[in-house]
Amino acid sequence: MIDILPQATTKYSLDYYATDPIFSVPVADVQADAKKIAARLKGRTIWMVNSTARGGGVAEMLPSLIALMNNLGITVRWAVIRTERQEFFRLTKRIHNLIHGDRSSGAELSAEEAEIYAAVNAENAASFKKELSPRDILIVHDPQPLPLGQTLARELGLLAVWRCHIGLDRHTEATKTAWRFLRPYLDGYRHAIFSAPEYIPDYCTDRSTIIHPAIDPLSHKNQELSVTKLTGILCNSGLQPSYEPVVTPDYRHRVSMLSENGSSVPPGELGLLFRPIVLQVSRWDRLKGWAPLLEGFVRLKHSTVVNNGSNKLQRKQDRLRLSRLVLAGPDPAAVADDPEGMQVLREIQERYASLDPEIRRDVSVILLPMESYKENALIVNAMQRCAAVIVQNSLQEGFGLSVTEAMWKRKAVLGTQACGIRHQIRDGRDGLLVSNPEDPAEIADKLALLLNNSIRRYNMGRSAQRRVYDQFLVFRQISGYLKLLAKLI
Ligand code: UDP
Repeated sequence: MIDILPQATTKYSLDYYATDPIFSVPVADVQADAKKIAARLKGRTIWMVNSTARGGGVAEMLPSLIALMNNLGITVRWAVIRTERQEFFRLTKRIHNLIHGDRSSGAELSAEEAEIYAAVNAENAASFKKELSPRDILIVHDPQPLPLGQTLARELGLLAVWRCHIGLDRHTEATKTAWRFLRPYLDGYRHAIFSAPEYIPDYCTDRSTIIHPAIDPLSHKNQELSVTKLTGILCNSGLQPSYEPVVTPDYRHRVSMLSENGSSVPPGELGLLFRPIVLQVSRWDRLKGWAPLLEGFVRLKHSTVVNNGSNKLQRKQDRLRLSRLVLAGPDPAAVADDPEGMQVLREIQERYASLDPEIRRDVSVILLPMESYKENALIVNAMQRCAAVIVQNSLQEGFGLSVTEAMWKRKAVLGTQACGIRHQIRDGRDGLLVSNPEDPAEIADKLALLLNNSIRRYNMGRSAQRRVYDQFLVFRQISGYLKLLAKLI
């Protein structure tokens, strides 16, 4: 039944964060917010409840959030609902897709599905109950455990808040279907939290707050890496042949690359340390816009002509000629239970195999091992730091932590008008946005613009990091929760 996870710890205390002059002010702010509410939270546990301990944006954020809140003297625990019934996850995936406007996974949700949804949540609620006291607070993440919060709020009188991480910035038949289905389960919740105002369903407007997702700047995914550490990660993971011995041992699970015939092979020399790299790291999901990004890059390569003009023009052409597209996502072993993901990867592979061999040499599809959370995070960190341009060509994006991570690393990001991305990147200032993520010509133009203008890239990167500092760091997110709880209790 429900899994209560061991108390999360962070490598660093807030006092340690504050020793870095960059973080001293945000840490002082969050400590002041915690002080205001500490007495009222005494003796109460805040429970974060979701449906997975690993994978996806929510599981990415919760460890730091929980550990740092505990560090502030607030008791926060993490519980994960569990079931063997696969039809439950098929249903919640369907709700997820509908909320994103995708009707292809089916129309109206049936009474039978409602029964499965309620039953799995009732079982989890029953086993969770003995851990709870009536003064505890539930923060329930996403639709999967929604009915559980309602049950416990009613039976124990707990304060329950729903934190919804997904949404679409327009109403369609699909979104209406999902929100209609979820509506009854929201009774009993005092409040809801969304990532953007556009996502709030009509019936929640009077009891909703916006809290942006956020990153931990000292996590394995985002911490600064010295040059030696960065090359060590590339060599240990197999992303870079080591021409010199490195201090740290090889990772047990190494990165592989898709070959033309679809098999996984060691990547060899990708030029991550030498060439202008255009990178996208995401799940193998159609909504991440992989296919048009690949076509855009192919166009960019076709537009590159050998030019005997001025030195400056020649250098620009050389930069485009040397650029390499790296598409990186989870190793298929980690996606085995995600048929959609496997299908998307297969389609990318087919297109990759059909590319003109000269262009194919400049494209790599990289498969990242997911067995070790820490190693995966360090690999993503190192790859992002090697990139000249980071792309997130999402057709839709609830928020897009991969964008936040790239911005924090002072990278020029090419994003899209997807709601979560445009809330982060101010077009032309913190990065560039394509107006149509399915238009390869526009993608090619904007990639060329960024690759050819290093000063612009540098300035956008600086502005991007500042934007994340102001809006999307974990301290700000904790303050958001504390201010809301101060209002509710
Ligand atoms: N990610 C990762 N390895 C991968 C692919 C993605 O660690 O192979 C991470 C990525 O760095 C980000 C998260 O998964 O932290 C994805 O979150 P995002 O909000 O961008 O998209 P979601 O997957 O939740 O739609």
